Formats: sequence, structure tokens, C-alpha cells
Amino acid sequence: MSIKQRLRQLQHEAKPLELGPADRHAQLRAVEGHVETYLADAANRPVYMPDRDSDGAFNELGLTEAPAPIDTALAMLDQHVLNSGFDIGSQRYLAYIPSGGLYTSALGDYLAAATNRYAGVQFAAPGVTRLERMLVRWVADELGYPASAQGDLTSGGSIAALSAIVAARESFGIRSRDVERHVVYATSLTHHTFFKALRIAGLVDCQVRTIALDKAYRMDANELERAVAEDKTAGLVPWLVAATAGTTDLGTVDPLDQIADLAEQHGFWFHVDGAYGGAFALCEPGRQRLTGIERSASMILDPHKGLFIPFGTGIVLVRDGQQLLDAYFARGAYMQDLKQSDAHHEQSAADLSPELSRPFRGLRMWLPLKLAGIAPFRAALEEKLLLAEYAYQRLSDMDQFDVGPHPDLSITAFRYLPKHGDADEFNLRLADAIRADGRTVLSTTTLDDMIVLRMAILGYNTHIDDIELTLDLARDIAQRLECSE
Ligand SMILES: *Cc1c(COP(=O)(O)O)cnc(C)c1O
Repeated sequence: MSIKQRLRQLQHEAKPLELGPADRHAQLRAVEGHVETYLADAANRPVYMPDRDSDGAFNELGLTEAPAPIDTALAMLDQHVLNSGFDIGSQRYLAYIPSGGLYTSALGDYLAAATNRYAGVQFAAPGVTRLERMLVRWVADELGYPASAQGDLTSGGSIAALSAIVAARESFGIRSRDVERHVVYATSLTHHTFFKALRIAGLVDCQVRTIALDKAYRMDANELERAVAEDKTAGLVPWLVAATAGTTDLGTVDPLDQIADLAEQHGFWFHVDGAYGGAFALCEPGRQRLTGIERSASMILDPHKGLFIPFGTGIVLVRDGQQLLDAYFARGAYMQDLKQSDAHHEQSAADLSPELSRPFRGLRMWLPLKLAGIAPFRAALEEKLLLAEYAYQRLSDMDQFDVGPHPDLSITAFRYLPKHGDADEFNLRLADAIRADGRTVLSTTTLDDMIVLRMAILGYNTHIDDIELTLDLARDIAQRLECSE
């Protein structure tokens, strides 16, 4: 067979990869029907479904040389993939940190993938870059960062934190030999992904100070000041303070203004983890609670939490955008014909991040905001703050429950007080029993060495009725557990 004949043969064998309009249409209709059924059924589905099958599904999902019809593939998803675990888009998912799943964001993903523009380099896709720079600018404006700020749309908060830490490391010129002299300040409520990012960035040998919390579970700024002074006296370099604007455990916000004062005085890098809480700046009560965030050197926030879009988008912002560029700018010889613009709003994502090829992330964030307008997002965020306040008040009035700190944002912590036995053990069992019931899910954490339940309210579709139902359920299930002892 000649090369040409073989090429014709291979072209024919690879043909199923090239769909025509009729096939595209049929597949899209099938997917759309599947999604509709899935979404319409949400209210009847438990918020948590235990895993029933593992080996069988592992094999059945396996790939074969022969093709499968789309209906078969979708049925497999139902049977082996979507029928276990948390339904995080449910309005009664109140565990960990909820993530919405705005439908219009899914459409954005579809558009982005179907058009598949190269989102890493401005010359390759100027329009993509412009849209993403505009989104970064919008978030920076909402959070009060100056025009010099620059940022990146990441896959999530973990990578956003890594990016901020690398920018902070580079801006201080920290080399391997200097690591042990540099000091990081955090609290016991700092998210574990921050420490993981330090490790990834080669900074595991930094001195790490765990600053005590005050009575409201916020970083004690006086303790921070004392620790910084002590380290300076000892000849160490206070380098990075990781404040949290919305801790995952309790939603508490560290005293950002006070920390900003200390940063100005002592010259350390002031980083704010707003992965969960940052988006609350979009509503007025939230903005007030985040006062001082605009004075930080870097911050992160997760649109896949506070802007209700599906998993896959975080943001890092660096106040002096040049520092992000300095940390990441790099070139290969083969890129020499890519013309480059220096304009702030035309900076390539690849020059501001560790990634080169990347998905067009902006579309999944832009489409929901464009189609609904910003106003409903502001309203929903204010609603979540008020729902947490409402839950706090109701729990304070129920004498079976002890309630945690007054919520700074949208997380309410509480525990049931059983008449007999170990309260910690009881509350762990209560969380399990609520999850098994399936109408709602809460999660637990440890607060002052006590097990507490936490109700994290961040679903765009979570409303007052869901909170009422959850509180009633928690009480009823706890009483049932108590009686069955
Ligand atoms: C969720 C969260 C993170 C981690 O972000 P991912 O998007 O899950 O990677 C970091 N910090 C806080 C406070 C969070 O809530």
C-alpha cells in the first residue's frame, strides 16, 4: 500500500471524530435532555448519596475500541457517576463551602470549549484576553484595588494562593539560602491550602508563627504586632502575613485594617485569603465587614464559591500588577513571532500565571454576570449574610442548642446539648444522621476542642425555607437520636 493509500485509509478510520451538523445537533439534544432531567429532579434527590458500587463501575466505565451511542454514555453517567456523593448544587447543601452551579456558567463552558480559543497568549486571542482582563479589572474595582492591580483567573483558590505566594517570594527576592530567615504569620484557622502552597513554592523551611485568635476567633492584631517585633529583634525578616477574610471553619474575618497598619509600619507582604468570603464585597453589608481588604498586597477569591459558578474558577489579585508579571514572565524562542502589547488590559494570561495553554475561563464567569446583571448577585450575597444571622438568632432561642460566635459572614456554628453522655460524640453522630437522612447536609469542625456543627450558606438557591427546614430537621433528628439511646 502506498503512503497515499494508507493515508486515505487512516482518514477514513478517524472519521468519527469529525461530526457533521446533524450529529452535533443530535448529541447536543441528548445532553440537553439529560441535564434537564437531572436539574428537574434535584428536589427529589438526596443531598448526599452513599457510594454503592466501585469495582463494577470502574470496569463498566472502561473504554473500548468500539464506539458507544450517546444515550449509553449518558446512562452510564447516571448509573455510575452522578448517583453518589454530595449534590453540591442543591439548595440544601450547607456543608463545607457550597458552590453554586449557575446554569448560564455551564453554557459559558460549552461556548468556550466549542470555540476553543487559545486563552494563554494575547496575540493568539486578543478578544479572550480583553474579556478576561476586564473581569479581573471588575473584581479589582469591586474589592477596592488601584489601577495598578493585576490578576489571573485560576482553576481555584489553591492555585490562586500559590500564585500570590510566588509573587510575594519573588518581590522579596527570597532565594533558597534565605528561606529560614523569613517569617510567615497565620492563625489556626488559616486554610490548609495556604501551607500547602508554601510547601509547593519551596518555602516549607520558613518560620511559621501561629498568631492567637481573639475572643471573636479573629487574628489577634496585638499578638501579631508583638510577634513581628520579636522576630525583628531576633534578626529575622517578617515576610508574609496571611489574613483570612472568611475562614472556612467559622466565616470569621481577621482585622484587616489593623493588619494593614502593621504592614505599612513593618513592610511585610499582607495577603488576604478571601477564597470563600471575598465576593461578599459585592453587597454593602459585606463590603463593610471586609474593610481594609483593599489595603492588602495580594488577595484571592473563588468565583466558584461566592459568585455561584461551577467548580473551576478562582482569582488571584496582586495590588502592584508588575510583581505578578515579574514572577511569571517567560519566553521560548518559538514564540518570537507573537507580537506583544504592553498595555495593562492586553497582558497575556500566560505572562501572569504558571500556565501557558489554558481554557478560556472568563466565559464561564462573564456569561452569568452579563445575562443576569450584577444586581441579583449583590442581592443573593446580602441574602446569605442575613440567612446566617437568622439561623444564629433562631438557634440562640432554642435551648437544646448552644450557638457559636456571631457570624461575620454566612457560616453559623452550633452544637446540640444532649441531656446525657458525651456532647462531642453526640454531635458527630448527629451530623452523620442528618447526612443519612438526605434532605440536608451540614458538616462539623472543632472549636475550642469542642465538636460543633457548621451551617455554611452560599447556594444562590438557598433561601429562608431551606434554613427553617434544616434547623427543624437538626432538632428533630437530635431528639430522635437522644430517645433511641
Ligand atoms: C475553598 C477555600 C480555599 C481553597 O480553594 P479551592 O478553590 O478549593 O482550591 C482556600 N481558602 C479558603 C478560605 C477556602 O474557603
